[in-house]
Amino acid sequence: MNMETWEQELVEKVTALAQGSFAERAALADSEGVFSQENMDELRKLGIPGLALPKSVGGLGASAEAQMRIIEAIAYCDASTAVALNMHLLVAGFVSVFPMFPRKDAMLKDITENGALVCAPGSVPTAELDDRPAGYKVTEDGDHLVFNGKAGFASGSDGAGYVLIGGSIDRGEGNDDDIVISLPTPETSGLTIRGNWDAMGLRATASHDVLCENMRIPRTEAMVVPAALVRMALEAAAANPVAAQQRAVGALGILAIWLGLAQAAFDETLEYVRERHGYLAGPAANLGKPVGFRSDEAWAQMGIGDMEHWLETGRVMLYDSVRRLDTAFPSTEEFTRHIVRTVYHLRRMSEEVSAGAMRVCGAHAYVRGRNLERIFRDMVGCNVMAWKTDQLKLTLGQGALGMPITFAGPAGT
Ligand SMILES: Cc1cc2nc3c(=O)[nH]c(=O)nc-3n(C[C@H](O)[C@H](O)[C@H](O)COP(=O)(O)OP(=O)(O)OC[C@H]3O[C@@H](n4cnc5c(N)ncnc54)[C@H](O)[C@@H]3O)c2cc1C
Repeated sequence: MNMETWEQELVEKVTALAQGSFAERAALADSEGVFSQENMDELRKLGIPGLALPKSVGGLGASAEAQMRIIEAIAYCDASTAVALNMHLLVAGFVSVFPMFPRKDAMLKDITENGALVCAPGSVPTAELDDRPAGYKVTEDGDHLVFNGKAGFASGSDGAGYVLIGGSIDRGEGNDDDIVISLPTPETSGLTIRGNWDAMGLRATASHDVLCENMRIPRTEAMVVPAALVRMALEAAAANPVAAQQRAVGALGILAIWLGLAQAAFDETLEYVRERHGYLAGPAANLGKPVGFRSDEAWAQMGIGDMEHWLETGRVMLYDSVRRLDTAFPSTEEFTRHIVRTVYHLRRMSEEVSAGAMRVCGAHAYVRGRNLERIFRDMVGCNVMAWKTDQLKLTLGQGALGMPITFAGPAGT
């Protein structure tokens, strides 16, 4: 399905912003590790926080393709902003399909009318390695729910007006836990955004840990659902294959970030090899045969050819998958294999293009001051995000052998 005219215009506007002010701010935001509120303010003016929400709740109701193109265009210039925005879009879309509860409706209104953002700490805290003490436990105290625990990697938490805190109430041995969803503001008493994100790349994502210490939420402001009911709802959702397929858009948004960054690494490499002349400095340079521009070297041309192959096959695969989300696959198994194949291919693309850029360009591209140095670190951040490459390969092989396979991504996509 082609994008509508208004979507094309929106993509153009976001692209202009990204190539202008976002690109100008990216180096400083990276070196200082600071989330760019200015970028988000500019995106707010275009209604981007409500991009993925349906028109029925005041969102823009943009197609999956428009969402991907916007994320890709931002990632090309500033991957940190793209990561934070994509997590917001993913979480807002995830929350919008929950049953109605007043707090949810208020948050969606705030997103669509005021450009509020939401973040979601759903992973083991950054400095910890054990999932057992991670996550949030909930107890009941009269008409309040009390949250305790911690989780990490809440991308965009410095700009967020809401934090998705999911927890569970222990109903005793032999009984299922109840699942609890709450949407506190960062100012809620007992909630602390730790401000501890300090990573090699994607440094401006503000992917901090979030701590809850006796955070009290009125029961009326949360959603409490027996786990069995959640399972039933998931089974019922699976009965509508197109709706189930469309939920993969959150995962594909991550692939759009990989694609935008890979294009950036590729373009930087082309520019670099056209400017890079000779090798070594001083008398030693005259000992071998004279060397001209690196773009004339066969080995560099081959390296670029390899990058080009990964980039363009990745682009074709991503947008083919995006366009096929609205048409039911013959079976759930076939869709699962298709989506795993797509994630695997783009993941390999990101790994190969990031390493390829360094292989072709070498030491002068590795120093700070060149955009490629930041882009490479951001790509490494993408290469460790969410899935595991070998696990995706294993899943593909098992699927081909007719074994049962599943695909899980951020926010349960
Ligand atoms: C820049 C950045 C931003 C991020 N933003 C967010 C965010 O906003 N919110 C958030 O919650 N997280 C976020 N994450 C965390 C991310 O999504 C992953 O949860 C985290 O990177 C995984 O950590 P890990 O590498 O230790 O992998 P692991 O936790 O070991 O595994 C990650 C994935 O591998 C698979 N896997 C590994 N082992 C098994 C197994 N035995 N069985 C089945 N599957 C398995 C699963 O698919 C699992 O999801 C972010 C990460 C980065 C780098």
